[in-house]
Amino acid sequence: MSVTVPKYYYNDNKRSFAYSTARSRWPKILDGAIGDISNLIRKQSKNEDNDSAYLEQAKVIESQLIDMKDELLSNKELSKFNNSEIPGLDFYDKQIEEYKKYLLVDNEEEKLSWLNSAWLFSETYFYRRIDVIVKNQDLFEDYDIFENLKQDTFKSSHFGVEELAIHYKQLHYEFLDKFEKQKASGEKIEEKVLELLFDEFAEISLWGNATDLSLLTNATLKDIQSVQGKEARKKSEEYILINELDRAWKALYHGGKNGDGKKRVDFILDNSGFEVYTDLVFSLFLLDSKIADEIVLHCKPRPWMVSDVTKKDFFLTIEDLLDKDGSFFGERVVHKEELKFVGEQIQKYYERKQIILKDNEFWTLNSGYWDISGKKENKELYDYLLESSLIIFKGDLNYRKLTDDRVWDRSVDFSVAIQDLAWSKLKMLSLRTCKADVVAGLPKGKDEELCKYWESLGNEVGELWCSSGKWAVMSFSDGKQQQ
Ligand SMILES: [Mg+2]
Repeated sequence: MSVTVPKYYYNDNKRSFAYSTARSRWPKILDGAIGDISNLIRKQSKNEDNDSAYLEQAKVIESQLIDMKDELLSNKELSKFNNSEIPGLDFYDKQIEEYKKYLLVDNEEEKLSWLNSAWLFSETYFYRRIDVIVKNQDLFEDYDIFENLKQDTFKSSHFGVEELAIHYKQLHYEFLDKFEKQKASGEKIEEKVLELLFDEFAEISLWGNATDLSLLTNATLKDIQSVQGKEARKKSEEYILINELDRAWKALYHGGKNGDGKKRVDFILDNSGFEVYTDLVFSLFLLDSKIADEIVLHCKPRPWMVSDVTKKDFFLTIEDLLDKDGSFFGERVVHKEELKFVGEQIQKYYERKQIILKDNEFWTLNSGYWDISGKKENKELYDYLLESSLIIFKGDLNYRKLTDDRVWDRSVDFSVAIQDLAWSKLKMLSLRTCKADVVAGLPKGKDEELCKYWESLGNEVGELWCSSGKWAVMSFSDGKQQQ
């Protein structure tokens, strides 16, 4: 069935979350970045042996970020980068021309400016601009302007971190160790039990993406199997609008091995801090239980969307969990041994090369993901992902890129909204709490029901239920759709 591809979500659409994002969230994010660099300047200035070149460069960054904020607030046109030294920027410049054409047709505007362009495009452009401002100063090439924020947020989620560490360690000794021994001796492990645990860790990883972590279930396998556990799960499952974990499980558990004789699971990561911690615990379960032989974590090649994971953040997470000098979580946590256990498990698998880190320019381009199978510049990454038994796309931005952030009817099939990816042969599971407008695959009438419900809570725009982070979807594609 062919469906016309709808237009993008635009920043001047008052019924879209794009509208307040561009006008209110972005300036605040810039204020945060300016604040970070101002603090650094203040500290450096007080230091008598300060490096004057470093200080000068920090001041340039600060003033350029302030200029960028003015540009945004006064709705200036998006300018080209004209910078071939930093990878990916030529592509952005090319796309700026392309998007101007779209803008004219889609949005009847000629000027591609901050407040009228397509949301996905301008948001990725926003983060590239910040990155270029920082990287243009050679002493700041490795500086992560969001690092302090990421670390503070992880520290403040110590309660959930501790709970999940206890949960994992308990399950590890209670079951996963047993599975390992059973498997080694050739005994058959009951599939139902493994699938139940898979669902449990997938859901923890899903809600790890939400700002509201109160839905995190924390139960032993016994609890999960008990009525009480089921009820607790049902409660959080009410908010999961689409649950296709069973299809993902079949693809992974019953699918064959890849060319290297391995079952590999790829995570296209979203946020650092608590979220990546839940992704790592999910990874530990997959490796402990030998459901997967290898986990590949796809990080961003640069600081991105404030909290996204870079390779450096992965190592910081291990350090934070090991907390060798006790200064990170300090007195906030009681069960230090459990945290250390999780940290050591991650380190062990990383050293054994069963947890592998990758980053690729593709993840910070301004375009959606439909092109991954068709363009020669993406061939290497595409071929690599074809070897995966399951690719788990975490979070909202990945979902927007899978669906190209277009105004899809919310009841259209997920396979329609992901276009070429539906027949790309890639086995994909999207774990996403809804924090933006686009969503697909809802049962007929569900969107209307939720719009009415959202308005009944006193919200002006019913459609924005979908950006609230309260609901989630777990959508799967086996990549085998007929074209
Ligand atoms: Mg993110």
